[in-house]
Amino acid sequence: MHDVINPATEEVIATVRPTSAEETDEAIVRAHEAWPSWRSVAPGERATLLRRFSDVVRDHAEELAQLEVANAGHTIGNARWEANNVANVLAYYAGAPERLFGRQIPVPGGIDMTFQEPIGVVGIIVPWNFPMPIAGWGFAPALAAGCTVVLKPAEVTPLTAIRLGELALEAGIPEHVLSILPGKGSVVGQRFVEHPLVRKIVFTGSTEVGEQIMAGAARQVKRVTLELGGKSANIVFADADLEKAAAAAPYGVFDNAGQDCCARSRILVQRSALDRFMELFEAAVAGVRVEDPTLETSEMGPLITRSHFETVAGFVPDDAPVAFRGTCPTGPGYWFPPTVLSPVAPGDRSFREEIFGPVVSVTSFEDEDEAIRLANATDFGLSGSIWTRDIGRGLRVSRGVETGTLSVNSHSSVRYWTPFGGFKKSGLGRELGPDALDAFTETKNVFINTED
Ligand code: NAD
Repeated sequence: MHDVINPATEEVIATVRPTSAEETDEAIVRAHEAWPSWRSVAPGERATLLRRFSDVVRDHAEELAQLEVANAGHTIGNARWEANNVANVLAYYAGAPERLFGRQIPVPGGIDMTFQEPIGVVGIIVPWNFPMPIAGWGFAPALAAGCTVVLKPAEVTPLTAIRLGELALEAGIPEHVLSILPGKGSVVGQRFVEHPLVRKIVFTGSTEVGEQIMAGAARQVKRVTLELGGKSANIVFADADLEKAAAAAPYGVFDNAGQDCCARSRILVQRSALDRFMELFEAAVAGVRVEDPTLETSEMGPLITRSHFETVAGFVPDDAPVAFRGTCPTGPGYWFPPTVLSPVAPGDRSFREEIFGPVVSVTSFEDEDEAIRLANATDFGLSGSIWTRDIGRGLRVSRGVETGTLSVNSHSSVRYWTPFGGFKKSGLGRELGPDALDAFTETKNVFINTED
């Protein structure tokens, strides 16, 4: 049995039995058996079932949110957004089954048409940092496309996924169409990669494990979507509204205690504005409310586990260039204060590696070219922000930065109706947005001879 621990109190809140390799294989076979009938549910009916699933999730949003606060230490405000995000994503992709169009292509001697065929059983592997949304971004479009799903939550955060599986049944999604299999990556996740009846893997997690999954999947030419790490830049030009940029900067990196693949964990500030920005930023960091995540006022909770706390702390040794820090509770829980490192050189470990905690590095730059070069001086390319009043510059720099999801004068990354994913080692493929079903379908071309 696996103890599930509340990271804000260190109390055991549940025990979960991990799924064995044999049980995983059985679930995959059942998902494969359930596939022919699920794919042949009429489009309008599949849409109705997904809409009902969305409604049931929304009806249980508060319960799901409370569960996530207890399991992952997310602030209650964030957790409510996350539960509703699952409902929204389901509602959005409920519009997809009737719009899963093929094409008719002019050819001589007959008619040529394409079909978008569901790929089969999809294995979804979820990390611990956003257990609900990341599960939903995978299963909603997969189910809409007519695939069946086996889903493995992260070892330390299985509770909301297990509950979503129950709610799917309550909404009328047939048995074995969406199966939740809590357990180890090296057991359940590994079987998803190895089992030939799993035709596609959607993996969100570290780049290291993502590389292993891609290598394993290659043996069967198994399709993969990978959403991996990040080291995103928040680029602040001197012509920006510095008050706004500085006030928003803590929330671009410390949200979810920095355990966010889109965290803007490098702040690049134009040299002439550095002193003023740091003054304003210090006041903004001091104002971040790091406290009991059940409180409505809480803006940041604890880190997920003791071992993750040690990893994050390893990036702030005694001789680290700490410019200033925020505050956090003492006592039980894996609390780490918002921490600002400056100056940090591009070769430094904290500039290059994903910390996945509330630690941000500040570096200065001279001009647009240097800003783009520094932003791109990383293996990752997931997200980023640009602060400037010059829209031409905002667009030029957006085109120059090699990342998948950028925002100008804001830190927004994710809207379920726009595409999301990374360049370089941040991933492969895109989730969300209007084209997400492409990742769960194969294009089939059929020619019909009309001549003889
Ligand atoms: P992780 O790679 O350790 O684990 C992710 C999942 O993979 C877990 O469910 C784990 O059990 C499973 N797993 C581990 N080893 C496996 C194996 N050999 N085979 C199959 N599955 C295996 O990552 P994590 O620590 O849970 O999550 C943090 C990482 O996820 C960070 O790097 C973060 O940037 C990344 N992330 C990326 C995105 C994105 O959309 N790009 C979103 C969230 C998190």
